[in-house]
Amino acid sequence: TLNLETAAAWMSDYASVIDENAAMLTDLDRQTGDADHGSNMQRGMKAVAALDPSEFDDAAAYLKKAGMTLVSTVGGASGPLYGTFLLRFAGAVGDGGKDALTAAFRAGLDGVVQRGKAEVGDKTMVDALSPAVDAFDAAGSLDEALNAAAEAAAKGRDEATPLVARKGRASYLGERSKDHQDPGATSLTLLLESAARTLV
Ligand code: ADP
Ligand code: MG
Ligand code: MG
Repeated sequence: TLNLETAAAWMSDYASVIDENAAMLTDLDRQTGDADHGSNMQRGMKAVAALDPSEFDDAAAYLKKAGMTLVSTVGGASGPLYGTFLLRFAGAVGDGGKDALTAAFRAGLDGVVQRGKAEVGDKTMVDALSPAVDAFDAAGSLDEALNAAAEAAAKGRDEATPLVARKGRASYLGERSKDHQDPGATSLTLLLESAARTLV
């Protein structure tokens, strides 16, 4: 279930995972972008982890602030996209159960797509997020949904690797963006793996 306590555990877990994987994410972004995705996400999640959950009334208010924090601290394409994801997600968390979180993940995805205009196959975080939302929706229980979403995200991330990027900096490389793993699809998969550990 998502509540203020588990939402804070999710953000704290993700901040640690980003710390551990920052060099790897920046290396991926060095191959097709400007070598800052790890440091961008690290700066943002450090600021999110510094929020005091006890200052918020509920998970929705806390995650909304987390989203605004990412928008204002990350810089780069990923800041507004992750920020929008969390803001929209926060607006739909309801009672934090399976049905509410299905709507929340869907709202988050819709926000990312509206903002970034990427479709599945453009080799962005949407390639991980979109199949994850579908897998979450299709699963029976919250537990199954969280695990299915994390697995679908990893699969989507890997299926995007051979593709040519059509959005973001990697698209400037054209055909040379093939056979590189997308940094944003990688960090998004880490976010859902973190959700599966913390929101059960
Ligand atoms: P920047 O490219 O501005 O340096 P980052 O390196 O932090 O920003 O993030 C790059 C990631 O952002 C990409 O790997 C990709 O997944 C994601 N991204 C970039 N543009 C878009 C977009 N229009 N829609 C969805 N995701 C995008
Ligand atoms: Mg970058
Ligand atoms: Mg950049």
